[in-house]
Amino acid sequence: MSATLLASLRKLLGEAQVLHDGDLSAWEVDWRKRYRGKALAVIRPASTDQVAQAVTQCAAQGVSIVPQGGNTGLVGGGVPNASGTQIVLSLQRMNRVRAIDADNLTMTVDAGCVLQAVQEAARSAGFWFPLSLAAEGSCTIGGNLATNAGGTQVLRFGNARDLCLGLEVVTPHGDIWHGLSGLRKDNTGYDLRHLMIGSEGTLGIITGATLKLAPQPAASMTAMATCPDLPACVSLLSLARQRLGDALTGFEVMNHVSLALVAQHMPQLRQPLPAAPWSVLLELSDPQSAEHARAQFEALLEAALAQQLIDDAAVAQSVAQSKTMWHLRESIPLAQAEEGLNIKHDVSLPVSRIAAFCAEAQAALTRDIPGSRLVNFGHLGDGNLHFNVQAPVHSDAAAFLAREESRVNTIVYDCVVAHGGSISAEHGVGALKVDELAARKDATALSMMRAVKAALDPQGLMNPGRVIQQR
Ligand SMILES: Cc1cc2nc3c(=O)[nH]c(=O)nc-3n(C[C@H](O)[C@H](O)[C@H](O)COP(=O)(O)OP(=O)(O)OC[C@H]3O[C@@H](n4cnc5c(N)ncnc54)[C@H](O)[C@@H]3O)c2cc1C
Repeated sequence: MSATLLASLRKLLGEAQVLHDGDLSAWEVDWRKRYRGKALAVIRPASTDQVAQAVTQCAAQGVSIVPQGGNTGLVGGGVPNASGTQIVLSLQRMNRVRAIDADNLTMTVDAGCVLQAVQEAARSAGFWFPLSLAAEGSCTIGGNLATNAGGTQVLRFGNARDLCLGLEVVTPHGDIWHGLSGLRKDNTGYDLRHLMIGSEGTLGIITGATLKLAPQPAASMTAMATCPDLPACVSLLSLARQRLGDALTGFEVMNHVSLALVAQHMPQLRQPLPAAPWSVLLELSDPQSAEHARAQFEALLEAALAQQLIDDAAVAQSVAQSKTMWHLRESIPLAQAEEGLNIKHDVSLPVSRIAAFCAEAQAALTRDIPGSRLVNFGHLGDGNLHFNVQAPVHSDAAAFLAREESRVNTIVYDCVVAHGGSISAEHGVGALKVDELAARKDATALSMMRAVKAALDPQGLMNPGRVIQQR
């Protein structure tokens, strides 16, 4: 059966676009190297019609499909399982910018466009596409929408969901939904776009998207500050929001362990301020001018110093300095990967509860798992923390993960729920959190999700086993 399917896929896509033998690890192993699957084949269609026909052929044979973009996902949702029966459908050859509509402030792109290429195309046309994350050089817009990615500008512009007006999707039956609308108002029934966004490849394959653009700011400016504790970071956020309003486009926090790991594994990156319990990275996007931006920043930081919210601060003096500051923040996941396997939690909380959550979760971890290191950083402006637990120094990281993951997760997620938070803020559920979601999500919500999945994908062929388990 699979030989017949592979032969017809080769006929459809061309011999070179159906990879079956040889090293397929680039598509079979996830970015964190936690999930190692085995694909029946990797297929690389070049158009929406090819995607639709390939899906039709797979559905006719009952073969399941794992859609894949840049394979930078952090929850194991984009790689096949170990059965050797799933087809990975890579969108990477679908990478055209289809159109830019300047008056409507939109652009329409293929789903396989790399995020950075989308940002650059917008910039070349005089606009700003503000979705931004450390994986932007490899992740695709289809993957960003499938995971409802967040990143560093959510504070001002929202998640990927808020930046998308229309979608083109191939359904699990192989039909094409032509939903590439650039409308900001369209109340014609259920919003299928929002159903598809964040569905992590379980309801269909996104092949195109119409995205919202913003005007380019006159100036962008970055600053770093150090804070004595997390409550001070939260107060600084409130002060910055009050003074800067919508011009505040980024507010990131990093605890001292995060930056110490960067110093250890990336010593070439200069850290502009002395080590401190917490560091904050602020981004200001000013509609007026660089002078105005600098004056605004300086006034904010002076007020924060006077209120003893910060101990020290540095405003970037050049684009290069600004890039270095962001590089420090964005290097934390890489430094963590260098240090070894770790237990990741991408959680969100009301900003007002974050400090209490951190204090309680940290105390419980220190008590129950002595020596574990808390690598804590994230998008404080969105109430989103990466609350990651690294093995004790000089210990076997893989053994620590195998032994402690379940206990660590229970401590952290119990605490998240007690403070009214979510166990997945921006990375999604994938394979990693399927059981956790089943155990913790509202029972009615889960049964509605299962009903939607069964209605749209009755054969259960679209990324099965991810997000929710069908009963
Ligand atoms: C260093 C680093 C930093 C990161 N920082 C952030 C961050 O700040 N914020 C954040 O939200 N995420 C972050 N991520 C996670 C990751 O980059 C995002 O989840 C990204 O949106 C995934 O895009 P991708 O193209 O790589 O998708 P993949 O990894 O290929 O796939 C992810 C999921 O989407 C599905 N999928 C992919 N393409 C499609 C499609 N066209 N149609 C339907 N389903 C599809 C897959 O089946 C899978 O379930 C980071 C990752 C790394 C490695």
